[in-house]
Amino acid sequence: MRKRIDADYRPGSEQLALFPAVSGNTINGLGERRRRRPSALYWHDPDTIAHGRLQKYFYANAARMETGRTETSQMAERRGPAELDPVAPVREQDNPAGWSVRVKEAALAHEADLVGIAAMREDWVFEGHQVAEPWIVVIGVGMDQRELAKGPPRPEDLSSANEVSRQYNRAARASKALANWIRNRGWNAVAHTGPMAGHLTVIPAAIAAGFGQLGKHGSMINDTWGASLRLASVTTDLPLVADAPVDIGVDDFCLRCRVCSDRCPPQAIYADKQLVRGEYKWYVDFDKCLPYFNDTLGCGICIAECPWSLPGVAPRLAAKLERRRAAI
Ligand code: SF4
Ligand code: SF4
Repeated sequence: MRKRIDADYRPGSEQLALFPAVSGNTINGLGERRRRRPSALYWHDPDTIAHGRLQKYFYANAARMETGRTETSQMAERRGPAELDPVAPVREQDNPAGWSVRVKEAALAHEADLVGIAAMREDWVFEGHQVAEPWIVVIGVGMDQRELAKGPPRPEDLSSANEVSRQYNRAARASKALANWIRNRGWNAVAHTGPMAGHLTVIPAAIAAGFGQLGKHGSMINDTWGASLRLASVTTDLPLVADAPVDIGVDDFCLRCRVCSDRCPPQAIYADKQLVRGEYKWYVDFDKCLPYFNDTLGCGICIAECPWSLPGVAPRLAAKLERRRAAI
């Protein structure tokens, strides 16, 4: 096993003093049997969430480390138009299958690397938020794993933070371009862009739309990009056809692999699936991950080191696991 970096990491007293009385895992519904909508936890307006002072600590740390040198500090102008186009007064007509093909072509022509469709579900929408549109088009953009593998951002090397921001910006431009493409045809469309969480949690929607499966590190794994991916989405009333979820063998693979849990400095990644809001799934201890994540401007070790994320590996691995399953 490779040596865990920052194995002796301990959160500083400044961060510890900012933790609220309530655990982030409680807010997330860890151990809860009942299905319910997710609660806003992080990457929301910091003045409205229990961990808001920690989110502000992240911002202050980012400002200290970046000093204008990163994509993050120049995010606003790289995320596409501030306002979406008005919805055209006349609705263009097509059938759902036709629209689905055209929407995907439009997304791929506007910077998306992946696109999938799911019927919108209320249990993806944060408590207290609303999404009125019945369909969600999920957009994925691949990240350069070699940049992520340069390690958690630090003042002397902000490569991985820059790559994350660059791809969030690309995903934002792609989703706004797709929303405008739909609105110009007379249908409503709303762009949902990261890194702020907004109204909905996009990973379950991406899984439903056939992008991949949840990995032990709590991020989605895709059969082209592994976990080296950022997401955005468009919700719309344009009639569409849903894609189907896929099994690319991630679950079985994660049962035998420990790369992310061994490499995570604060050992935040559970070895087994946990019950979260009525569903057993891979889970990351929010309270353990957050301080290191904050101190390193986004960490990302688990994503960068996941075997699926290594360049060229995911397609080969998915094909190999598929052959193995077919032989059983
Ligand atoms: S992002 Fe969080 S869970 Fe992943 S390696 Fe870093 S501290 Fe661990
Ligand atoms: S590093 Fe291994 S255990 Fe962790 S998510 Fe990737 S494949 Fe699964």
